Amino acid sequence: MKAAVVKENAPGERRVALVPETVPKLTQAGLEVLVEQGAGNGAWFPDSAYSEAGASIVSTDDLYATADVILTVTRPGEAEMAKLRAGQTVIGMLSPLTDPRLAENLASRGVTAVSLDGLPRTLSRAQGMDALTSQANVAGYKAALLGAAEYGRFFPLLITAAGTARPAKLLVLGAGVAGLQAIGTARRLGAQVSGYDVRPASKGEVESLGATFIELRSVGSAAGEGGYARELTDDERQAQQEELTAHIARQDVVITTAQVPGRRPPLLITEDAVKAMAAGSVIVDMGASPLGGNVAGSVAGETVVTENGVTVIGAQNLPSTVPTASSNAYSRNISALLLHMVSEGALKIDTSDEIQAGVVVTHDGQVVHPAVAKLLDGRPDGEGGR
Ligand code: NAD
Repeated sequence: MKAAVVKENAPGERRVALVPETVPKLTQAGLEVLVEQGAGNGAWFPDSAYSEAGASIVSTDDLYATADVILTVTRPGEAEMAKLRAGQTVIGMLSPLTDPRLAENLASRGVTAVSLDGLPRTLSRAQGMDALTSQANVAGYKAALLGAAEYGRFFPLLITAAGTARPAKLLVLGAGVAGLQAIGTARRLGAQVSGYDVRPASKGEVESLGATFIELRSVGSAAGEGGYARELTDDERQAQQEELTAHIARQDVVITTAQVPGRRPPLLITEDAVKAMAAGSVIVDMGASPLGGNVAGSVAGETVVTENGVTVIGAQNLPSTVPTASSNAYSRNISALLLHMVSEGALKIDTSDEIQAGVVVTHDGQVVHPAVAKLLDGRPDGEGGR
């Protein structure tokens, strides 16, 4: 079986699905590894490193013509979609719940689609395959660094002959994987850090990193299914925004990471809250998206400075800005999933397996993932996954 690594084509995408270090794991399992010319360049893995690891470097056309399984980071673009053929499998982060039409398109071409976004995350044997977690970790780390780079003062307490600098006050809203990594990184840089989340379980996690947990009086637990948060009601959201505003006004830097699966990111920092911050403050909105983010006025992929001097960074695809680390981690995730699905040298689709039930989106010309199929039927998908 030939497993092929493509060169990512999304604008600004620097990651690669498989790094040279992981190639022997696949070849030892009897797979042949093909790598599209220049696939690893953005993450500083030259073609020669793949060849030395036992892979064959191939042209784009040869890759699509001969591969059985295509390994990718993000969804294939239009040009790549046109090259896929029936019987091939694509494994990547395909966001089928955000874009179910892609799944429909792949199914109609007879392509099997496997998406790492659907992995059951609480299953301990699947943890090594959890790309959402590995990439969120990288993103949270980079968000803290972006905040530090944009902030016009120091993060740590500094006592020098030229004076004493007080430590920066930094708040992280949303303490999931990315939020906890942002908290840890900001703490290591010396900031005075606090964190907030609607899931009560996050209190202990925030405190274990040496940060202060903010408890709001107006909003109770909003723990949802599978360890995720549920969407707040309109009343809860308003109460949360109002109470958070007072906390936000006291911060030098705020990093927002709040997400609710299958929904647009909740608005946590209103225009009034931004206005209440002092000039020179920085907000990093990791929820920024074309549909809106966690922060009023944030623009995905852009940095805007408000009239009152607050810098709002609409962070987008942060893992791609730390391409070697994120590719290393992703490579371990995708190869673990691929090897889990391979039996006697061939891919064996079996949706009675709990892991495969979460990740296999299309097979045999059908959209087989129930939540994606439901979305395509036009029925609202009430629950879980992404
Ligand atoms: P996520 O990206 O879906 O959301 C980020 C955070 O935003 C979450 O902590 C969520 O509670 C929070 N949030 C949502 N709405 C909010 C609001 N209105 N106000 C404040 N915060 C809000 O989450 P994630 O990082 O993917 O992690 C979600 C959960 O999954 C966590 O409990 C995490 O520990 C768990 N998890 C478990 C495993 C595992 O068991 N192996 C692996 C990964 C994640």
